[in-house]
Amino acid sequence: MLISDLGGEAALINLIRDKYGAPGVGDLALGIGDDAALIRSGDGFLVVTADLLVENTHFRMEINEPYLLGWKSAAVNISDIAAMGGLPTYSFVSIGLPDIEVGVVEAIYEGMRDVSAQYGSVLAGGDTVASPSGIVINVTQLGMVETDKVARRDGAKPGDAILVTNTIGDSRAGLELLLKFGRPHPSPLLQGEGATGVRGSESCGPRHLKPEPKIPEARAAVGTGKVHSMMDLSDGLAADLRKLCEASRVGARVIAAALPISEDTHIAAARLDLDPVHLAAGGGEDYELLLTCDPKAAVEIARAIASTGSTSRVIGEITEGSDVTLALPNGEEEPIGGSWEHF
Ligand code: ADP
Ligand code: MG
Repeated sequence: MLISDLGGEAALINLIRDKYGAPGVGDLALGIGDDAALIRSGDGFLVVTADLLVENTHFRMEINEPYLLGWKSAAVNISDIAAMGGLPTYSFVSIGLPDIEVGVVEAIYEGMRDVSAQYGSVLAGGDTVASPSGIVINVTQLGMVETDKVARRDGAKPGDAILVTNTIGDSRAGLELLLKFGRPHPSPLLQGEGATGVRGSESCGPRHLKPEPKIPEARAAVGTGKVHSMMDLSDGLAADLRKLCEASRVGARVIAAALPISEDTHIAAARLDLDPVHLAAGGGEDYELLLTCDPKAAVEIARAIASTGSTSRVIGEITEGSDVTLALPNGEEEPIGGSWEHF
C-alpha cells in the first residue's frame, strides 16, 4: 500500500505511533502525537522536537536565501517548543549537502544561530553528509518546561474558547506572491523594499521566509495557568485545529468573520485572486499559537499575550462531537478545509 492510499502523512504518523511508539515507558511522559515529546527531568520536563526540511519540498533556493533557510529551519523547531509552553535550550543539526560554497553553509548556520540566540538556544551538535540531490536539514531542538506550565494538544474541553495569536494566512499569501512575482529586492534582513515588491503586502513575504517563533507569547499564556490546550500553527488552521480536536476528542466551530486577517493579506488575496478566508483557514506556516481555555479566562490570557506586543483573538469554540466546522457570514456551516498534504 502506498502512503497516499493509507491516508497521507497524518495516517502514517498514527501507524508509527500505534505500532512503534512507547507511551509511558520510563520517563517518557508524552511521546508521538504532540508538537514535542516530554521527558520527565528534575522538577519539570525535557521538551524534544525534530523537523526535517527538504529542498524543493519545503523550500526553493530561487525564492529563498541560505541565511533565511537556516533561520526558518531553527525557527520552526523553536516554535514547537513554544507550542508546549517551554523554553528552547540546545539544538542538534543534521545536514545533507551537495558540493556547494562553504559561504552558503555558513550563511545557513548564521541564520540558525541568530534565531536561536534570540530565544536563548545554542547549537550542541549534529551530523553532516553528502546529498547530491539537494539540501536537507534536520533540526532536533531541546527545551525545558516547568510541570505547571506544560501545554498539550489533548486538553481542550467542550465550551472552551479558541484563541489565535496575531494574524494568519500571511505566510501562504507571501509564498503565493513570491512564486508569482519573485523577489525583486533580495535582502538578508528583509527590510526596506519588502520581500515581494508587491505594494501593500510587504509583510507577507517575511512572514513566509522569516517566521518568528512565539516563545514570549506562549510563556505569557501558560503563565496564567489557564491554558487548556495549545499548539503552533504550522500546517494551517484547518489541519492543525483538526489535530488538536482529534487529540482532545472534541469538535470545534470557527467563525469565519472572526479570523484575524491582516490588511496585507487582504491586499495580497485581491492581487492573487484568492479568498482571504481560505488563505487564513487553509494556509500553513504562520507559526502563530492556537490555544483553548475556559471562555472566562480568555480576556486574562489575551491580556498576558498583549504584554509581549502580540495580539490574540477568540475565533470560535470547542464543541462536543468531532465535527470541525467553519461558520460563514451567510449562516451556513461547512467542514473547515484546505491544508498542506505531503503525499
Ligand atoms: P509538527 O507539525 O508540530 O512539527 P508533526 O505533524 O510533524 O508535528 O508530528 C506530529 C507528531 O508525530 C510529533 O509527536 C512527532 O514527533 C511525531 N512524528 C512525526 N513523524 C514521525 C516519525 N517518522 N517517527 C516517529 N514520530 C514521528
Ligand atoms: Mg507543531
